[in-house]
Amino acid sequence: MPHKRLSGWGRTAWTVADVVSAREPDAIAHALTEVGPRGAIARGLGRSYGAAAQNAGGTVIEIASETDYEGADITFSPETGIIDVASSVSLDAILRFSVPRGWFVPVTPGTRFVTVGGAIASDVHGKNHHVDGSFGQHVRSMTVLLSNGEVVELSPHQNPEWFWATVGGMGLTGIVLRAQVALLPIETSQVLVETERLGNFDAVCAAMSADGDDDRYRYSVCWVDLLATGASMGRGVLTRGNHAQLSEVSSDEPLKYDPRLRVSAPGWVPNGLLNKLSIRAFNEVWYRKAPSQRHVGCESIPAFFHPLDGVTNWNRLYGNQGFIQYQFIVPLDRTDVLRRVIETFSEAGVGSFLAVLKRMGPQNLAPMSFPTEGWTLTLDMAAGLKGLPELLARVDAMVLDAGGRHYLAKDSHVAPSAVRRGYPRLDEWLSVREAMDPAGMWRSDLSRRLGLVQGA
Ligand SMILES: Cc1cc2nc3c(=O)[nH]c(=O)nc-3n(C[C@H](O)[C@H](O)[C@H](O)COP(=O)(O)OP(=O)(O)OC[C@H]3O[C@@H](n4cnc5c(N)ncnc54)[C@H](O)[C@@H]3O)c2cc1C
Repeated sequence: MPHKRLSGWGRTAWTVADVVSAREPDAIAHALTEVGPRGAIARGLGRSYGAAAQNAGGTVIEIASETDYEGADITFSPETGIIDVASSVSLDAILRFSVPRGWFVPVTPGTRFVTVGGAIASDVHGKNHHVDGSFGQHVRSMTVLLSNGEVVELSPHQNPEWFWATVGGMGLTGIVLRAQVALLPIETSQVLVETERLGNFDAVCAAMSADGDDDRYRYSVCWVDLLATGASMGRGVLTRGNHAQLSEVSSDEPLKYDPRLRVSAPGWVPNGLLNKLSIRAFNEVWYRKAPSQRHVGCESIPAFFHPLDGVTNWNRLYGNQGFIQYQFIVPLDRTDVLRRVIETFSEAGVGSFLAVLKRMGPQNLAPMSFPTEGWTLTLDMAAGLKGLPELLARVDAMVLDAGGRHYLAKDSHVAPSAVRRGYPRLDEWLSVREAMDPAGMWRSDLSRRLGLVQGA
């Protein structure tokens, strides 16, 4: 098996594993027969930020490739709106297939370059969590390969415990081979978007609360300027939208879908290019560029949902030390803590290009699913930033004391105790995991760091 150096999207903590490329169920099952004592983990498109899809000294089963959209393994029933799809298929491939037919994925993260398997394993959420929940809630059934080579059919009605343990289970219960996922009907490929500038933290929270008019929008998210201080602390640009109806667009090809060709970030970037000054300048421009009064206009699916996909390898912009993406959630009534966290970053002068705030809806049945009713803030920071571990440790404590938690698909920093405190159903999940994988074959660098698996 070829050795390969792997990292997550944040490009920190590289490790070497035996990497097997296998798409077909038989090839994946065969790969399991050669797994050694360090176990194995599935890898999709490697868009988790930390080490969820790495396995130092063990096996990584790579089941996807970014360009697999020609002839992707998808079948679709327009009567039910359900696709039957191989887990290696990306949301990019599904959108190319489904949008021209008048259907949209039920949930999309901020990139379409994730696989169906990765979307289930992280139970990904999008800008519509407050309305539609997360990805797992739209999975009608799935087939999963267990570590003993058996293939099981799981659904919310058929072995629901195993189904929900796999949703958000970070690949540690088995390898998802196929899934049936309900799509969302759309009339056009445009999104009717309202954009507005909000001058401070209180204005942002008021506009995004359920008492405001946020529930009128299927999609809602706010970019926050983490470097703003004083009266402007927590200012942001709120964008909210719904799929445009036929009557709202003038195009004669209302379902045309044409994800733009991508430009590439340079192969080498000096460390420190993204520093406090450049981020402050960017934030000022970004904030001022947004309309001061509420503005309504149509945007394409790629522009609204996946703007970062326009630049391939943008993750290299942080230089060779990589970057940390930090995402946490606190309960809805803890805006005091959210404010303190933003103040903490703002006072420390830790900026982020991608600080995004979102109000989440209720938690689903998956014990390890991240979203729960509350406020989630996501930010990117250069990994080499001085004092970062200490700063994040202070924020971790605020989040956990408030009854919040961290998102494992983004994590590369929290301690095992943070998972124990943040995920109160952890023991229940661990015992289902053990029943599904008594040999303890599934293991990743993330699972070792967080104490989610026993042994080496
Ligand atoms: C630009 C960007 C924006 C993002 N925005 C969001 C967002 O808005 N919301 C959100 O929730 N996430 C977001 N993410 C994170 C991303 O959606 C998740 O990390 C997702 O799991 C990545 O899918 P992947 O196919 O790349 O999986 P990988 O990163 O390769 O793997 C992730 C996990 O899934 C497991 N896995 C992969 N395939 C399978 C399979 N077939 N069976 C079982 N387990 C499997 C792996 O073992 C690993 O634990 C974003 C990431 C990026 C880079």
